[in-house]
Amino acid sequence: MILRVQPLTTTRRLTGPFDYLAPPDAAVAVGSVVRIPFGRQSLDGVVVELATASELPAERLVRPTEVRADSVPPDLVALALWIAEEYCSTPARGLSLVLPPRGRPRSALWAERTRMDLDGIRLTPRQQELLGRLPAPAGRDLPALRRLEARGLVGLAPRASRRAPRTAAHDDRLVRATPAQDAAVASVAGNAEREWLLHGVTGSGKTEVYLRAAERTLDAGRGVIVLVPEIALTPQTVTRFQARFGDTVALLHSGLSDGERYDEWRRLRDGRARVAVGPRSAVFAPVRDLGLLVIDEEHDASYKHEGDPRYDARRVAEHRAAAAGATLLLGSATPRPESWHALARLELPHRVDGQRLPPVRVLDMRGRSHALHPETRRALTDTRKSILMLNRRGWSNFLTCRSCGKAWECPQCDVALVLHRHADAIACHHCGHRERVPHRCDACGSLSVARYGAGTERLEAELAEALDVPVFRLDADTAGAKDAVMDLLERFRAAPAGVLLGTQMVAKGHDFPDVGLGVVLDADATLRFPDFRAEERTFALIAQLAGRAGRGPDGGRVLVQTASPDASAIAYAARHDSAGFVREELGRRRALRYPPFADLIRVVCSSPDGASARAAAAAVAERVDAPESELLGPAPLFRLRGRERFQLVVKAVLREPAVRAVGAAVDAAARDRAHRAVAFSVDVDPQ
Ligand code: ADP
Ligand code: ZN
Ligand code: ZN
Repeated sequence: MILRVQPLTTTRRLTGPFDYLAPPDAAVAVGSVVRIPFGRQSLDGVVVELATASELPAERLVRPTEVRADSVPPDLVALALWIAEEYCSTPARGLSLVLPPRGRPRSALWAERTRMDLDGIRLTPRQQELLGRLPAPAGRDLPALRRLEARGLVGLAPRASRRAPRTAAHDDRLVRATPAQDAAVASVAGNAEREWLLHGVTGSGKTEVYLRAAERTLDAGRGVIVLVPEIALTPQTVTRFQARFGDTVALLHSGLSDGERYDEWRRLRDGRARVAVGPRSAVFAPVRDLGLLVIDEEHDASYKHEGDPRYDARRVAEHRAAAAGATLLLGSATPRPESWHALARLELPHRVDGQRLPPVRVLDMRGRSHALHPETRRALTDTRKSILMLNRRGWSNFLTCRSCGKAWECPQCDVALVLHRHADAIACHHCGHRERVPHRCDACGSLSVARYGAGTERLEAELAEALDVPVFRLDADTAGAKDAVMDLLERFRAAPAGVLLGTQMVAKGHDFPDVGLGVVLDADATLRFPDFRAEERTFALIAQLAGRAGRGPDGGRVLVQTASPDASAIAYAARHDSAGFVREELGRRRALRYPPFADLIRVVCSSPDGASARAAAAAVAERVDAPESELLGPAPLFRLRGRERFQLVVKAVLREPAVRAVGAAVDAAARDRAHRAVAFSVDVDPQ
């Protein structure tokens, strides 16, 4: 038998698979991970196909030197190769997403009794007590057990022991489903339609629908994957699945130790666990006989992967579900226009507890210089618990010299450096460059350095001064460790009064029952981005935050500060009108031919010098030959990490030929020695 093996290398030039002879002794199949001699090196590879014959002469065929114990399920091999094509990547990089984690099972020595009747056997009380507790892990009793083993009373043998991820305990609440929930579960469990969008505000009972749909799937003997945006921000979803289904739930996320990840992966692979919960990468969980794939908060940007391959977990999920004959269930309070357009929709129109959504007031900030509107100040003083969102971290967002006008910019990127007072640094939010805070202008010597704009750090200081309740700041600077986030959110939850202040992280997943006020500062910040998703992002941020305020018995309210009070995304969010927003947005996208009415493919060419980057982008543009597609650019992007960048966007009506055409054009340009200094990146479905 011949094995077609894809070597796992990072170079783009090597295009496998390559033929090897099957080893005589080990069982090898599609998905086996093998060590192969390759030229003078030795590489890891994945068996992607079995064949009966090779075109190579027999004397050139060699065998793998090693076969790993853990293998990739064949359906995930197919998924990985599909991703490689779909996202203009390489098979090796696609396969790297589905590889078994490295590790080995941990075993512990267990003791068991070998005979039950102890007549005529002399035992101390301690020995009797010890025997009474068996079977059990040997642990500290090993010496005593060894003596009993020597007398033929006890057997000692290793057993696999599980390294289980730590999670918060949670009681399962058994509730009677509302008619809307019942209808949603019945639709999802029926078999006519396979792809659903569950639309409902926070607290409308979406998670309960996921749980019930999962239960039906498990009852039918099939497996479930549940994707969540970020475990640290949405621990409730995880714990609710564990509370309902117990040990059959496996958790997969980046915070696990290597041993935990290995054990969770193995439990899924063997079928001991049948529900996988985790962020984006859990779409590759080795769940057997997948019957349901849930994506919670489907609008969340974290589902897009920003490294090669730049896959979108939602699209991968759709493909995997279709291949497995599984049902796909996406849920959100603020669905993406793409999902609204493409999927059958289920509505949960009300909050389960009957609470209304809080009234939203838009506050016009034009002509105001202070960060907080007077009405916001008053509301913060009058409310016990508030959430305040400002999507900008740091103290102030740029520094200039009052005498000569010098602005402090990153030496590597064309962006302003942001002041972080606590860290005594000015930092680039794109590349991480840091400098000490300047107190004197290095161009003219002036001591007068002006600071403009306010970020979360500065606002925290101002609020702490102005209010007599604790202020909890949640942003990338305070979120360091995973536990730090959970801990901070837990302290806010437990506090009788306080302000949770932060970037968009405060608008995600969590569910606080007693927040009376939600505030969005600079709500049009996201609108100013030159990006077709600007409206969608702005709407979602405001609506998500609004959904988290006013969940207590006293209701609540929301204030939105903006310099664009007439922007329609803001107006729709203020009315909690997702349907209205999505309809208008779909109309705009249809007219401008943006997704879902076209697919976008973005190519970025970067190089230390601008001319090479521009020339490479022009060369790609010239070579792209895709039917019915529109080409935008090359257009310059701001310099990043010392590299000048030019981008090209292809708007395609026919997706597959366009992806192939762009891939071919980029490969050809990359092979051209004239563009040696240029790095090419291709992003299909950019966020
Ligand atoms: P969502 O996921 O839409 O935010 P959840 O499913 O978390 O909503 O439900 C919000 C709260 O209401 C949870 O505390 C949940 O336990 C409770 N809940 C959900 N469904 C029901 C129901 N049918 N009856 C009573 N309480 C419910
Ligand atoms: Zn100066
Ligand atoms: Zn930088």
